[in-house]
Amino acid sequence: MKITHIRLGRLSAPLRVPFKTALRTVNRVEDVVVELHTDSGAVGYGEAPPTGPITGDTTGGIVGAILELIAPALLGREVDDFEAVTALVQKAGVHNTSAKAAVDMALWDLYGQLHNIPVHKLLGGARRQLVTDITISVNPPEQMAKDARDAVARGYDCLKVKVGADPALDTARLAAVRRAVGDKVCIRIDANQAWTPRQAVRILNEMQDKGLALELVEQPVPAADLEGLAYVTRNSWVPVMADESVFSPADAMRIFQARAADYVNIKLMKCGGLTNALRIAAAAEVYGVECMIGCMLEAKIAVNAAVELACARSIITRVDLDGPVLCSVDPVEGGAQFDERVITVSDAPGMGIRGVQPGYLSYLDT
Ligand code: MG
Repeated sequence: MKITHIRLGRLSAPLRVPFKTALRTVNRVEDVVVELHTDSGAVGYGEAPPTGPITGDTTGGIVGAILELIAPALLGREVDDFEAVTALVQKAGVHNTSAKAAVDMALWDLYGQLHNIPVHKLLGGARRQLVTDITISVNPPEQMAKDARDAVARGYDCLKVKVGADPALDTARLAAVRRAVGDKVCIRIDANQAWTPRQAVRILNEMQDKGLALELVEQPVPAADLEGLAYVTRNSWVPVMADESVFSPADAMRIFQARAADYVNIKLMKCGGLTNALRIAAAAEVYGVECMIGCMLEAKIAVNAAVELACARSIITRVDLDGPVLCSVDPVEGGAQFDERVITVSDAPGMGIRGVQPGYLSYLDT
């Protein structure tokens, strides 16, 4: 199975409601779709969102990295020479992790198809269901309380609440959400780098004192401030998860060695795909640090790859894969089934993706 050509397209799907964090507001998922075509007729699918505020990636940047850096290294290569071809993707220039993730997942898809086995089984996993949380965007407290109530009515028992746009309001926001959903629902919060270390400790301990019972806080301080992250981890009652601080396996190792966080959030778009995500998971196993699997604003091709991984690594104990359910349509055919919080992995060979419904994907002339 040789890679003969690469086709790129743009997938566009509307969100149910605007997605708002401390960093940005977004109304649609607008992702780059990658098709790796082969001489056997098999097609491998990948997807990457342009998440400028987090990864620095733009649509044009993802397309350019694939066409100018990655494609020349892959065309004509045998998929079965798998370790070598996945390494070529990671070595195709620095950064561009989203472009690399899209191509890497398409290679895993092809390798599974070639050997007629689902990727989660290829990785030693079992076919199982995952349960995802759902994101509640930053808004006025009463709006967030309503959104939280609606999510619980849809069956979600774990909410990921975005905070941090205005620190003075954060405690009021969380109190409104906790009042709205009662004490049985799990609440984790994500500050997306918005606080200083001292501010984070003060806010988190205040939330703890008010009985808000937070499961964890994601990325309370700026990504590069590992000392600040470690300070919050040591001084806050609320456990800390590193997200934007962990892109590469080397970043994860630094966090583990410094005990700078209690948990890490693995996202394919930060680390460059399944190949590096497996390295982070392996290091996490060694250090005994539980992981969450997360996603950006992604449609199902990319989130599906994260599902395959999560079914194969028990160190991934938390699932934040709500990209497809935040969209008002799911234009991707095949792959995992998303039924609100319950995700059922596909048992088709590779990743099980069959394509994108007409009208949602426009091919780029390449
Ligand atoms: Mg996060």
